[in-house]
Amino acid sequence: MSVVTSRFGEAMTTPYETIIGLEVHVQLQTRTKLFCGCPTTFGLPPNSATCPVCLGLPGALPVLNRHAFQLALRAAAALNCQIPQRTKWDRKNYFYPDLPKGYQISQYDQPLGGEGYLDIPRRIGIIRAHLEEDAGKLTHEGNLTLVDLNRAGMPLLEIVGKPELTSPEEAKIYLEEMAGLMRDIGVSDCRMEEGSLRCDANVNIRVGDEVTPIVEIKNLNSFRFLERAVRYEASRQYERFQRDSSFRFGKVPKQTWGWDEVAGVTRPQREKEEAADYRYFPDPDLVPIRISPEQVAAARAEVGELPSQARERLASQYGLSSYDVGVLMGMGRTAIAYFDRASAACGDSKTACNWITNQVAAVLKETNTTLDAFALSAERLGGLIAAQKRIGLSRQQALDVFAKMIAEPLDADAAISALGVTVVSDDSAIVEAVRRAMAANPKAVSDYRKGKKAAANSLKGAVMKELRGAGRADVVDRVLQTELERHE
Ligand code: ZN
Ligand code: MN
Repeated sequence: MSVVTSRFGEAMTTPYETIIGLEVHVQLQTRTKLFCGCPTTFGLPPNSATCPVCLGLPGALPVLNRHAFQLALRAAAALNCQIPQRTKWDRKNYFYPDLPKGYQISQYDQPLGGEGYLDIPRRIGIIRAHLEEDAGKLTHEGNLTLVDLNRAGMPLLEIVGKPELTSPEEAKIYLEEMAGLMRDIGVSDCRMEEGSLRCDANVNIRVGDEVTPIVEIKNLNSFRFLERAVRYEASRQYERFQRDSSFRFGKVPKQTWGWDEVAGVTRPQREKEEAADYRYFPDPDLVPIRISPEQVAAARAEVGELPSQARERLASQYGLSSYDVGVLMGMGRTAIAYFDRASAACGDSKTACNWITNQVAAVLKETNTTLDAFALSAERLGGLIAAQKRIGLSRQQALDVFAKMIAEPLDADAAISALGVTVVSDDSAIVEAVRRAMAANPKAVSDYRKGKKAAANSLKGAVMKELRGAGRADVVDRVLQTELERHE
């Protein structure tokens, strides 16, 4: 029996414990392939981005892409991996039509990343991370199989996680956190729909003291498919476990299955090879690599603040709620830096967070822009927030100024005067308007006095109308309150 807490906090009970380990392939953001100069551009005509090296022609020699190595090192640093002083290349031999060389260049016993972890925020262990080249792509059409070798030789980082994930939801969160981290540090764009993030899930279950055989579900290409496939597979194994006493770990070899999203089931594909079947041996075409302490230090510096560190800092430094932190961090690393600067400029971090996660996020989405390219700098947004508070701009006025500041490079005060926004903050004028609004809305007044406090909102609207939207919001609130309470 296992009680698992979902990301939404509710406890879910299953009669078994799910054990999940993910193998994630991340395509590194380089311009060219791992061992040749062919472009990595997505969507080129089939077999147009190929050369003797990635076609595996006899005599062609691979040359390591330095940038790919640096990105892989940065990823290993971000995953807190142990980084050895020496790493090397191995051939993983197998025959498949999408692999013309008959072997894949990978890393076997000396990967560039050793043990590490990812905090999601629960700490999940990483077994290893290694660089390898991708294979080509096969398309089956009727009796034909077409091969496109554009992808052959693409730089991949394979990240093997420990089987420490305990629910389908947690597996999904782990993959999302992994993708967010790799994007944040500029290692990969992690576009699942373009194959630059792929995931295999090793799944089995524990029932009391007994454990079922591991099934590897290959090539899960969406976060939702991962979650669904793992949930289905665990329940399938439980059903089989109950009626088949030979379905136990060690009695059946590990198998490779696939996920059929349309039918919503997993299906067997082949028996899983063991490492010995691949006849790994050091690639004689590539020299081993020495990794200097300076290179490791540089990679760690490039990583900067990890999401787990940012999460803690945003809560402790600004007192943001975990909800706000989650929404802000969901906008990516640039949003955190933007928020830091906007907060510093206005001195009101809660309001800055609200503006960024609501209005700024909405504009970015509407205009399909990233925060890097956003016309309104964090400092100017901070200036708007400060001005809103100082002058008492209404919500609508502030939004108008915001739009003006996006359209033109004005600071808040210049935008306010350019728009001719005026704010009535004179008490006597506001008292007048409040009294007129109350006289015109006797029903709302009596509702309020009978205890329907929400009636104050409609009265406030009426006051703002009297003032043509220019009433200083905090003064209106205060005067309205006083006038309503006065005759109670
Ligand atoms: Zn090539
Ligand atoms: Mn691999």
